[in-house]
Amino acid sequence: MSQVLEILTLQTIDDEAASLRAALADIDRRLQGDEELIAARHELLEVESRLNAVRSRQRRLEDEVESLSDKLAREETRLYDGSVKVLKELQGLQAEVENLQKTRSSLEDELIGVLDEAEAIDREYAAKAAVVRKLEERWEQHSQDLRREARRLTDAVVRVDARREAQKTKISPRPLQLYEDLRVRKGGMAVARVVGATCSGCRVAIPDAVRRKAMSPTDLAQCPNCERILSIG
Ligand SMILES: [Zn+2]
Repeated sequence: MSQVLEILTLQTIDDEAASLRAALADIDRRLQGDEELIAARHELLEVESRLNAVRSRQRRLEDEVESLSDKLAREETRLYDGSVKVLKELQGLQAEVENLQKTRSSLEDELIGVLDEAEAIDREYAAKAAVVRKLEERWEQHSQDLRREARRLTDAVVRVDARREAQKTKISPRPLQLYEDLRVRKGGMAVARVVGATCSGCRVAIPDAVRRKAMSPTDLAQCPNCERILSIG
């Protein structure tokens, strides 16, 4: 096989390696996580913190109601057990009992509101937790597929790299160096086919002398315009 065809084969291998590596990088990026799942977990945490806040308000109110009830029970006992005999004291105690009853009643109303709120947030939490579970299952399945594909691509990269090493041995050092330089400088396309009488890399006409040189099995011809190695046929 002529040098230019060996180089063209190397370019095909390099193209394949580049697209395998790009696909692998894409999968690695996708394996970083599921955006929808991350957002759903975030929302769940937000609901959880609202739920914790309302639950602690509930406990505080329950404690307050309980301690008021205890106090009220004690005062009511004193009011009715005959231990307070002075009318003025009795009236004062009566007023305090009414006052405590009023305060307790308004705390109880507040507690009912808080319980309703907690119940609503509880339902919201359950719904969001179900969404998170579903997305986690989906991600588990999906990431398994992605990991399998990543393994397949990694193996393919190893094989294509081995083919590249083998192909390099078929090319002389100077043409190989030229190819490597051009591949970097010309965005991956170091070898251009001559189509008609035109360089397919830059669409500029190739002079006859250069075309003849490009047909030689040993010499390499380069496009006078874009410098790419020319391949005929
Ligand atoms: Zn050209």
